[in-house]
Amino acid sequence: MAAQDTQTATRPATASVGGTGCVVSRVKSRLQAAGLRPTRQRMGLGWLLFAQGDRHLTAEGLYEEARKARVPVSLATVYNTLHQFTEAGLIREVAVEGSKTYFDTNAANHHHFFIEGENRLIDIEGSDIAVATLPNVPDGMEIARVDVVVRLRRKA
Ligand SMILES: [Zn+2]
Repeated sequence: MAAQDTQTATRPATASVGGTGCVVSRVKSRLQAAGLRPTRQRMGLGWLLFAQGDRHLTAEGLYEEARKARVPVSLATVYNTLHQFTEAGLIREVAVEGSKTYFDTNAANHHHFFIEGENRLIDIEGSDIAVATLPNVPDGMEIARVDVVVRLRRKA
């Protein structure tokens, strides 16, 4: 979506919450900058998501963390919030297999290794991948972005 691309481009790509300063107020201003009201649930989940640097996690994984951190949310709320964050350009979705969606707190364009059997997603550093030929797209469409997932397995 064009609007989302513009948003992503104008925001510093790695505006990760961390380092100095109050994490809570950073999460709050990050939500507000994305046009999201900082409700308690969004703040709680945003804090879990953004306080630890760049990471990849599933809705179930975040729900588990929320339970451990005693953030009172349902799994449905976690899903909804992750999708709101994605639409606002705060995080992005990485679809690895049909059933699994990972959410990436680094919303900048980058590619991934996926380790089979460990269900782990790792960033591919820099621009080490060049996609030489892209297919023609249907009329009225344009390529929004290209996500490459290189699947790895342990050598036998
Ligand atoms: Zn990533």
